[in-house]
Amino acid sequence: MGVVTEIDPAANSQLMGLYASNGMLCTQCEAEGFRRITFFPDRPDVLSTYRVRMSGPKAQFPVLLSNGNCVASGDGEAGEHWAEWHDPWPKPSYLFAAVAGDLVANRDSFTTMSGREVALNIYVRDGDLERTGHAMLALKNSMKWDEEVFGREYDLDLFNIVAVSDFNMGAMENKGLNVFNTRYVLADPETATDADYDGVEGVIAHEYFHNWSGNRVTCRDWFQLSLKEGFTVLRDQLFSQDMGSEAVKRIEDVRVLRSVQFPEDSGPLAHPIRPDSYREISNFYTSTVYNKGAEVIRMMRTMAGPDAFRKGCDLYFERHDGEAATCEDFVKAIEDRTGMDLAQFRLWYSQAGAPKVEASLEHSGSTATLKLRQHVPPTLASHQAANADSAADRAV
Ligand SMILES: [Zn+2]
Repeated sequence: MGVVTEIDPAANSQLMGLYASNGMLCTQCEAEGFRRITFFPDRPDVLSTYRVRMSGPKAQFPVLLSNGNCVASGDGEAGEHWAEWHDPWPKPSYLFAAVAGDLVANRDSFTTMSGREVALNIYVRDGDLERTGHAMLALKNSMKWDEEVFGREYDLDLFNIVAVSDFNMGAMENKGLNVFNTRYVLADPETATDADYDGVEGVIAHEYFHNWSGNRVTCRDWFQLSLKEGFTVLRDQLFSQDMGSEAVKRIEDVRVLRSVQFPEDSGPLAHPIRPDSYREISNFYTSTVYNKGAEVIRMMRTMAGPDAFRKGCDLYFERHDGEAATCEDFVKAIEDRTGMDLAQFRLWYSQAGAPKVEASLEHSGSTATLKLRQHVPPTLASHQAANADSAADRAV
């Protein structure tokens, strides 16, 4: 028994599911693209292992890529060739990916902390190859950093990145096959600014870090989006702090929060980092879910201290590896391992808006007393407003 689906990628102008792009075939399945490829229970809590066989004309599609490890390949008749991919890690359908096209690769390798050799490839169009050096360095630095700071080791023999100029999401963390817009991969000293270099490093790291925070432990449902995005944004922020200047990076991140997230949270689009309802999940890839989500987790880290926070994260990964988890599972793991009482703190997940804090300092003799009062002003959030369009361009 099987399902045979006939689709027309060239007519897929939504660029969700399988689509054609300048002679290439490419997929984007987060959040609900896989259902545009075939019939499937397309929900993040349905985890499966995938074996993918791709075949087609070798001249037109010399490179055939999918998730996991390439287990077999060969030539067929009349100029056809094929490749078979197997991803041993159970994953939700939104992490499925396949790419076919005429691409060249910057090849390198990384040896993990347990001594496993991982082949690294960054696939681009001919002519872009010499601008992939910075992205490769960023990838290797990310792999090493995640081992050292979070104890997270990569888990396949292969890690592939594909950079496509008309990929309309910023970047996507498909298991073992990240797909990027070229803007987040290509950089050279002739044309790229410092900010471009930092952007490439940060986005490469973000997508790589999802291998644990998002892929190995995924989201039970899309209301939990901040579980993977808030946490992974925090992880990429901490990485960039370590690669460059901690103070400068923190100022940049707070600037983004104030210039993008604060206006969102004080207007009709205000919503909690874990929304209660949505009509279209693709509208919820917002600065609130990402950047405020990262700040909320950063607060837990600040309260616990980095070492206790790391232990809490270890517990979270240990408990939920191979599962589809919730924001509550994360908070619970931090609580259990650090001993903090986060009952009141959980309100950050369900309340929209920025609390206002009033501070007053009183001097009396040699004593200074600082009084803090906080209140949360009502927001303009409404069900309808929360479903309005958000920015189309983002990294997922
Ligand atoms: Zn992400």
